[in-house]
Amino acid sequence: MPTKKSTPDANRLDRIVAEARRAGAAREKGYREQALKLYPWVCGRCARDFTHANLQLLEVHHRDSNHDNNPPDGSNWELLCTYCHEAEHRKYLDNAGRGGDHAGGEKDSPATYRPFEKLGALLTPKPDNPDKS
Ligand SMILES: [Zn+2]
Ligand SMILES: [Zn+2]
Repeated sequence: MPTKKSTPDANRLDRIVAEARRAGAAREKGYREQALKLYPWVCGRCARDFTHANLQLLEVHHRDSNHDNNPPDGSNWELLCTYCHEAEHRKYLDNAGRGGDHAGGEKDSPATYRPFEKLGALLTPKPDNPDKS
């Protein structure tokens, strides 16, 4: 009987998960940086332009909805502002809900664009805000 307290398998799994997470983040950072180098910092939908100050609102959209398809020539990328990007994804969701023959839909993990939803809410004035004072 081995006297080791921790199971090597669990440690290995931890490491694999950590590595996969790091690789995913690095890949995402990689294609974003590449796309920002390739394309002008302008939203492909509303033509709003971006600077270093608000660049975090400019996101990389995958034209074919496949986040694993990252050709170095950038042909699968489109820069969209966070609002247009969200609208674009809603379109996919709507289509998927209605038709059902749009196989898969976009594989965006919510974590990649959800944080900006809050930001959008902060920047958008609330339409109904009854003043009770
Ligand atoms: Zn836009
Ligand atoms: Zn997208």
